[in-house]
Amino acid sequence: MHLRKRSAVTGGAGFLGSHLCERLLNEGRDVLCIDNFYTGSKRNILHLLDNPYFELYRHDITYPLYIEVDEVFNLACPASPIHYQNDPVQTTKVNVHGSINMLGLAKRLKAKIMQASTSEVYGDPKVHPQQESYWGHVNPIGLRSCYDEGKRCAETLFFDYHRQHDLKIKVARIFNTYGPRMHPRDGRVVSNFIVQALQGQPITIYGEGTQTRSFCYVDDLIEGFWRLMNTKDEFTGPVNLGNPVEFTIAELAEKVIGFTKSRSQIVHKPLPQDDPIMRRPDISLAKKVLDWEPKVPLDEGLKKTIDYFDDLLRTGGMELD
Ligand code: NAD
Ligand code: UDP
Ligand code: UDP
Repeated sequence: MHLRKRSAVTGGAGFLGSHLCERLLNEGRDVLCIDNFYTGSKRNILHLLDNPYFELYRHDITYPLYIEVDEVFNLACPASPIHYQNDPVQTTKVNVHGSINMLGLAKRLKAKIMQASTSEVYGDPKVHPQQESYWGHVNPIGLRSCYDEGKRCAETLFFDYHRQHDLKIKVARIFNTYGPRMHPRDGRVVSNFIVQALQGQPITIYGEGTQTRSFCYVDDLIEGFWRLMNTKDEFTGPVNLGNPVEFTIAELAEKVIGFTKSRSQIVHKPLPQDDPIMRRPDISLAKKVLDWEPKVPLDEGLKKTIDYFDDLLRTGGMELD
């Protein structure tokens, strides 16, 4: 007998996964966190380990997994360019083999399954802002392809399991998200700028800094996950989850320098290959179906994230990763 609903979170020891585990525990779920610690860290879930409704299972989802749960949140995948390009073949494997295993698991259990997809399925978009109906502009053989095409193939698998096996699926296309527990060395722009500013190192803007991104605070995103998973079965997505307020990378650098009162100088470095010039979600669908939109403004979220990294640097946490 299981009075509590059991949720599995793959990638549960990562940035988003650890916040999701926390939220699910607060909602009264029995949580199974599945992670091989490829980019995740025990530090992210240390505070959950003594909760009797939280279980940690060290496992690589590219291998089959036989467990009993009611729903699966599939987040396992390295998420930043530095991490996913470190072993690109493994990145494709986790998206394809890993998704097949988690879909096979959900099929056997008749469980609902949510996929953490990404705005990267739109590639370097030719349509702005991006709606879910846009098919994307992706280079199939570039350095980012293992991630972009891996995630696109994962979406294909989710929809084929849905059509072929009647699986209950939910696909979220996540846009740039930031907040406490981002990996300090994953090369993402928010963590890079904050760590550089706090350490008095030069702030590295790639290119002119005129490229844009829209940054969603982690708590807002997790609220979106929760609402999406609890939509009626007919709703599959894909649905964009992200903050539609767009900033240039140069503006972000100025804000970080301002909030940290840093004396860091800005330096320019070459723009990486296939780096999208503009990115902003159209969230009309999420507003309509989930009644969801981000609440936390960039200034407020950045301050919380700065506090986290400040603490991490003071306590020597950077050296542990
Ligand atoms: P993260 O690197 O912090 O988390 C990923 C987690 O997956 C890590 O804990 C890692 O150890 C684990 N993992 C990797 N390969 C695994 C495997 N084979 N088996 C089991 N566990 C494995 O990244 P994140 O930012 O928390 O991203 C979580 C998910 O959200 C990813 O699927 C990512 O593609 C997606 N996403 C994130 C963002 C963002 O802005 N953070 C944007 C779009 C999509
Ligand atoms: N699988 C798993 N856990 C389960 C059920 C299946 O890991 O509880 C894996 C299994 O290894 C298989 C994959 O999921 O390779 C796809 O399963 P599916 O039933 O769709 O395919 P089949 O087993 O028929 O190849
Ligand atoms: N970027 C930057 N300096 C950095 C790290 C990233 O200027 O130290 C830029 C990067 O080129 C991109 C944007 O910031 O245009 C967002 O990069 P990130 O890796 O965070 O996410 P993604 O490219 O996946 O959106």
